[in-house]
Amino acid sequence: MTTTVAAGAGAEALAEAIRERFASHIREKIRISPQHSNRASSLGHPCEMRSYLDRAKWDKVAPVDEGLQRIFERGNEMEPVVRRLLEDLGIRVTGEQMAVKWGAFQITGHNDFRIADTDKWGRIVVEIKSTGNPKFAKARTAEDLRGSELGEKWYAQVQLYMLLGNYDQAIMVIIDVLSWQLVVIPVALDYEYAETLLKRAERINAAITSKRDGEGLALINNPKICRRCPHYGVSCTPSVNFGDGVTVLADDGLTAMLDRRGELEPAAKEFAALDTEVKDAVKTKGEMVIAGDWMIENTEVTQKRSKVPPEIAAQYQTTSSYVKSHITRLESPKP
Ligand code: SF4
Repeated sequence: MTTTVAAGAGAEALAEAIRERFASHIREKIRISPQHSNRASSLGHPCEMRSYLDRAKWDKVAPVDEGLQRIFERGNEMEPVVRRLLEDLGIRVTGEQMAVKWGAFQITGHNDFRIADTDKWGRIVVEIKSTGNPKFAKARTAEDLRGSELGEKWYAQVQLYMLLGNYDQAIMVIIDVLSWQLVVIPVALDYEYAETLLKRAERINAAITSKRDGEGLALINNPKICRRCPHYGVSCTPSVNFGDGVTVLADDGLTAMLDRRGELEPAAKEFAALDTEVKDAVKTKGEMVIAGDWMIENTEVTQKRSKVPPEIAAQYQTTSSYVKSHITRLESPKP
């Protein structure tokens, strides 16, 4: 029997189309949203100034990169999945991204769900998160979460949802997308802690009204956190201690070169990989190869090397040193 395969662009073209369309789909989602209130998800950041700047200078931050946007999208996609999973397990939840607002403190947020069967389980807030971080996947208690910047923000968010909604219990349901495990963490209302968040909100509100650029708010001095902060070097230049031996240069020319180098880096890597691939492909095709608008000359190069016994070579060895520079970008994150 003869199988007829329909004519078309083919699997290679389809694969390429999907890659490009997905990247462009993610890029289209990147946007900077105005922030005119204290978001529950921001108030638990270890740096009070960061919570203030997220609101006061939201329009000054650079858009997130594609990698981070993919993580945000993953979170959005996972929420209905986890809800369905809970329902498959017989745990009914109610409410969907319910907007919560506490005008007196100018706090807003979106609480995911609440347990529907209150007679059976009690009144419980449900907050859904997703992670690819093995550290979160091992968490069993709220304290396990609180060891990290992101975990502390999650904890604070849930505390505020409980306080604002008059609940005293919550569960965080974190789906580990790598192991497809549900990490479920019970959280009790810690009234004293939640109060500190309200006090922070009050200080931020006062700073916004006074228009004095967050004067008096607490800053942290933590290179690990500051280097990932979108306000670092834009609206905030803390005297961060990067440790001994660090020289901080205010050299606009050098910074411009480094920025351009950063822009070109992905293209340079792609060029190097393609250059090797092309040369490997034509090496054995003859001395002169023409393909499309390109000509490649293959020349045999002969190198002379002397084999010297190690004990003789050792007599002529000298030591020299040079400076090796490795450049990395001080920025965001990849939660
Ligand atoms: S750069 Fe550091 S000190 Fe400034 S807002 Fe960000 S985290 Fe806080």
